[in-house]
Amino acid sequence: MTALARGSVVVVAGGAGFVGSHLCERLLADGYRVVAVDNLSTGSTDNLAHLPVGERLTVVDGDIVSTETMARLNDVVDRNDVSAVLNFASPASPPAYLARPLETLAVGSTGTWSLINYALSCNARFLMASTSEVYGDPLEHPQSEDYWGNVNPIGERSVYDEAKRFSEALVAAHERSAGLDARIVRIFNTYGPRMQPDDGRVVTNMVHQALAGQPLTIYGDGSQTRSFCYVSDEVDGIVRLLQSDVRGPVNIGNPHEFTIRELADVISDVIDVELSISYLPLPSDDPKVRRPDIGRANELLGWEPQVQLADGIRLMVESLR
Ligand code: NAD
Ligand code: UDP
Repeated sequence: MTALARGSVVVVAGGAGFVGSHLCERLLADGYRVVAVDNLSTGSTDNLAHLPVGERLTVVDGDIVSTETMARLNDVVDRNDVSAVLNFASPASPPAYLARPLETLAVGSTGTWSLINYALSCNARFLMASTSEVYGDPLEHPQSEDYWGNVNPIGERSVYDEAKRFSEALVAAHERSAGLDARIVRIFNTYGPRMQPDDGRVVTNMVHQALAGQPLTIYGDGSQTRSFCYVSDEVDGIVRLLQSDVRGPVNIGNPHEFTIRELADVISDVIDVELSISYLPLPSDDPKVRRPDIGRANELLGWEPQVQLADGIRLMVESLR
């Protein structure tokens, strides 16, 4: 294992977002200094306010697509001190990326490319936050890393799916051509405290609807499936991958699969409200199934998730209350 040097600096793009802020917190707890760079489009500095901002954590308000932001990183950190660069910057919820189609394509292409160049100039490891969306509406189930996916390249969701696929291609090409020391994590639906209440994802929608005594919205008939991973499990898998020598994509997600209708049952049970559902149209190209094959993460990283869905929802609700 070539672990990162203790006390070195880790740059986290998208560090003020939901997953990014939990990752910054974990890296600080592990003894690293952290630079979070974020344009605050879907994230918030509130997510980092409880951490040692101005001490071991520096926050840079900037867009990774802009060369000016990349130059500003030189003002806040010496390149020789940077051991890793993590790319978590991107709109992530379907409503967020559908509202920012071109920004999403830009951050997954120009943004990732700039950040890879920055990592190379620091001689640092690069970790790319990819997604289960690279599998699209999968024809293989569960999805293992060697499945190439089924993505509509011109559909609405392609702005996100193809941006992430292009990011992976950029990473792989720089590994081959420039010796980039890279890791790729394919994240499956992750939930927990600090998700923006209006991000439009199914867990946030349903938790907030149940707490407000409103009907839970189900798109389509609710028979589509997802596999939900609690954020502490997700972050633990990401950190294990970051500290490992494992090359090539690794799925990190909870393999326990639920229909959206079952998710509604779990959330109304945990919050103790009578289940009431409002059915709405299914968005276009909505994947019918999604479940990670985590054999690779289990074998190579010794990782498997610990938090069951009902327990994770309980933790999320407690943090909101
Ligand atoms: P999020 O929206 O909370 O976090 C994304 C962060 O990136 C935000 O703080 C946002 O302001 C920032 N950002 C967006 N564009 C930027 C840009 N051009 N320059 C700088 N910062 C920018 O979403 P999240 O759920 O925390 O997702 C984090 C990462 O993990 C994303 O890359 C996402 O694609 C990936 N991911 C998340 C999930 C999940 O279920 N949460 C699943 C798969 C992949
Ligand atoms: N969904 C739903 N109700 C909502 C929000 C989403 O039924 O209020 C569905 C959505 O159509 C999809 C699944 O829940 O089938 C997961 O959606 P989410 O936006 O959380 O993420 P995705 O996995 O589609 O990226």
